[in-house]
Amino acid sequence: MTDERKTALIIGAGIGGLSLAMRLQAAGFDTTIVEALDQAGGRATVRRQDGFVFDMGPTVLTVPHFIEELFALERDEPMLDAPDFPAEILPKTAHATELRIREGISGGPRTSEYVTIRPILPFYRIYFDDGTYFDYDGDPESTRRQIEAIEPDDLDGYERFHVDARAIFERGFLELGYTYFGDAWTMLKVAPDLFKLDAVRSLFSFTSRYFKSDKLRQVFSFETLLVGGNPLRVPAIYAMIHFVEKTWGIHFAMGGTGALVQGMTRKYQDLGGRIRYDASVDEILVEGRAARGVRLHTGEELRADLVVSNADYATTYMKLIDKKHRTWNPDWKVKMMRYSMSLVVIYFGFEKREGETLDLQHHNIILGPRYEELLTDIFDRKLLSDDFSQYLHIPTLTDPSLAPEGHHAAYTLIPVPHNGSGLDWSEIGEAFVDKVLTMLDEEGFIPGLRERIVTQSHITPDHFEGRMQSYLGNAFGVEPRLEHSAFFRPHNRSEDITNLYLVGASAQPGAGTPSVMMSAKMTARAIVEDHGLQVDKVDTPELRLGDVAAK
Ligand SMILES: Cc1cc2nc3c(=O)[nH]c(=O)nc-3n(C[C@H](O)[C@H](O)[C@H](O)COP(=O)(O)OP(=O)(O)OC[C@H]3O[C@@H](n4cnc5c(N)ncnc54)[C@H](O)[C@@H]3O)c2cc1C
Repeated sequence: MTDERKTALIIGAGIGGLSLAMRLQAAGFDTTIVEALDQAGGRATVRRQDGFVFDMGPTVLTVPHFIEELFALERDEPMLDAPDFPAEILPKTAHATELRIREGISGGPRTSEYVTIRPILPFYRIYFDDGTYFDYDGDPESTRRQIEAIEPDDLDGYERFHVDARAIFERGFLELGYTYFGDAWTMLKVAPDLFKLDAVRSLFSFTSRYFKSDKLRQVFSFETLLVGGNPLRVPAIYAMIHFVEKTWGIHFAMGGTGALVQGMTRKYQDLGGRIRYDASVDEILVEGRAARGVRLHTGEELRADLVVSNADYATTYMKLIDKKHRTWNPDWKVKMMRYSMSLVVIYFGFEKREGETLDLQHHNIILGPRYEELLTDIFDRKLLSDDFSQYLHIPTLTDPSLAPEGHHAAYTLIPVPHNGSGLDWSEIGEAFVDKVLTMLDEEGFIPGLRERIVTQSHITPDHFEGRMQSYLGNAFGVEPRLEHSAFFRPHNRSEDITNLYLVGASAQPGAGTPSVMMSAKMTARAIVEDHGLQVDKVDTPELRLGDVAAK
């Protein structure tokens, strides 16, 4: 061991903050996470209510290999140089993934020491406004059958979409996914390829080239909403999500995503990391243009060799760092960025009925009558429309332990404008929630729901603005758009302040659980480049990152 290890403070125990802290512990740093809340997880915290367990945020897990990588870490074994996508995780044949999914294999041996992860089929059931639905499960045959039933002419388009989306996935995710765009040159080098793949036009316009049917255009573009992206505005590089899901499936942590967070917290502590709860940071202490520590809301000051913020980008710069230290990220620039939409999420428990089989799946997307217009209301006009689309999650279809005997636990999530809308949720929230639950009941998704509900609560954009400390109550950080991509997305290594780093949804590469895990690896690499590995083996070539010497 080196005599004195460098110390790192991480603001926030979201999945990104935790992943980074685990990686820094493995790279030999002594880390402490300071978390404002009384539990870890951030967006992925858990609400326990009347015997029900509700995941408050992410429910769809993809790329189980990223999770396995974290659980495989050991103190002083950083594994930052290992291939990001080793050959064994790439399916060898078209059916290999499907077989793995059907056999119920998720994650890997190290994951299962901490949490059990299971694949989910179908990935999503997507309900259209006319009551018909599409079960998307990544199986090309069943996909073709369902496309044919909707619009036979689109079968040919699907084959072409498949080829082109695969090319985007291979270049954009497998080859470039971990590229840190810290300078414009790195971006310029890859830009021609992205133009060639047509990956810069909007995703919706991209899918519209292949599908005539409105329904199929929606099926192949809605997924970006789960990471805060407007399908009308996100670049088509996000078509890779379709392939990420197809390649590695969709998974669920038994006990809920909260069980994954608990497992990650335990692993982090096993690696020797420390975590302090109820420790909201008021200020990042900067001396001589370098981050030296943080001041908590109690006035207590903690010092470290480096500081990483897992908090919202706008909050980090505008609230936690004095203006005088910011030239690259002044208030005007931070305010000019566009922030993702927000959400209303309703958590509810309801009675099962004798002999009833719900005509629903674990993950249900219930699309409203309008698509493009509704998205424009939410993202651009910032209006709360009369109609809405929602994602209905019923985890007890997979894991009954999340509700008391004879009950289901569910949540439904509705994209709404962020608080730049001026809507007063304390006034309109209850009525909106009532409207959504009545719709689920009266349109027969959960017949008789109003009489069957035994527990209910909800969050609005105010939750994200207040409890999550997110600017304008955004739910997913900086909106993924072409102008906020790559070099133009907030940098994981602060340009203003030495020894300050960002990790998580607002930083590169973006929001969503796999992306914030990638963000953690990218930020860990930047930190190791700047500070060296804090382990004895620092001079062993295979442990060195690039040819940057340890300081
Ligand atoms: C309802 C919902 C559903 C979602 N569903 C999915 C899904 O199914 N699949 C998927 O991949 N993604 C999903 N996402 C997105 C995904 O959850 C997020 O992108 C990801 O969890 C963000 O992780 P993070 O580490 O960036 O930050 P966060 O989870 O935002 O964590 C940041 C942490 O920082 C703490 N913090 C903030 N300010 C301070 C401060 N001043 N002092 C101390 N601590 C502070 C916060 O308390 C929080 O714990 C969903 C998001 C939401 C909201």
